[in-house]
Amino acid sequence: VDLREELARHRAEEQKLAWEGTFLDYFELVKRQPEIADLAHARIYRMIMGAGVQTDERGEKRYQFFVHDIFGLERPLAQLVEYFNSAARRLEVRKRILLLMGPVGGGKSTLVTLLKRGLEQFSRTDAGALYAIADCPMHEEPLHLVPHNLRAGIQKEYGIYIEGDLCPSCAQMLRDKYGGRVEEVPVRRITFSEKHRVGIGTFSPSDPKSQDISELTGSIDLATVGQYGSESDPRAYRFDGELNVANRGLMEFIEMLKCDEKFLYGLLTLSQEQSIKTSRFSMIYADECIPKML
Ligand SMILES: [Zn+2]
Repeated sequence: VDLREELARHRAEEQKLAWEGTFLDYFELVKRQPEIADLAHARIYRMIMGAGVQTDERGEKRYQFFVHDIFGLERPLAQLVEYFNSAARRLEVRKRILLLMGPVGGGKSTLVTLLKRGLEQFSRTDAGALYAIADCPMHEEPLHLVPHNLRAGIQKEYGIYIEGDLCPSCAQMLRDKYGGRVEEVPVRRITFSEKHRVGIGTFSPSDPKSQDISELTGSIDLATVGQYGSESDPRAYRFDGELNVANRGLMEFIEMLKCDEKFLYGLLTLSQEQSIKTSRFSMIYADECIPKML
């Protein structure tokens, strides 16, 4: 190993991952490589297919993404890939929670772990690159900055589909800090990381008696409410629920104990309407895949 070369390569990679620019710079990137603005399911589908597919002697497809860790589950895997394929095309199935059923030790958690670790890796590659509004607590897609009345024109001219609205925090920032000048808003590349709570979440309901919906949707920051004078000021809200965290990627829902109904409503609203409902704000857009194990 030539250490000097390795270090130079490492540095070059870190530099790429540290990309920062304005929204206009970002828009140029999207024009060149539209898939950087893929929605969550489409990105996952590209990740799986990008690893390669082989057809065995019986005509069964073998997805290389799973091949080293999951054995003898060709049919369920084919169904799973088909789910992502349809969801990537924004068909109705995208609005469903991905329910994984099967015996303990049957590969469900291995599968979800593969998707999570896979996304972390993939987001560090050129093919899996993605970007977010700098400092957005939900690392949201910068294309949300584009006003609705311009979106149809952009789709027609560049084939770029835009879905979703700014989160309350970014809406306030655009208004107060940038006076509505979308083009100046800073954007940076992000990488998924469960450890750093970016794009990958895990939710496992705690004791039914102490279950608190804020674990999913975030909560008011009581320490700063006084400072901002209102409970509905986004600066006094912590967008740190698992659904907020997992925006753009995947939130694993582990049903350990019986779950309170309000949690299930929270999950359904997210998967069906791509939004998180909180008591403080109108719906907050979020885009993520939710595998749930039974
Ligand atoms: Zn935001």
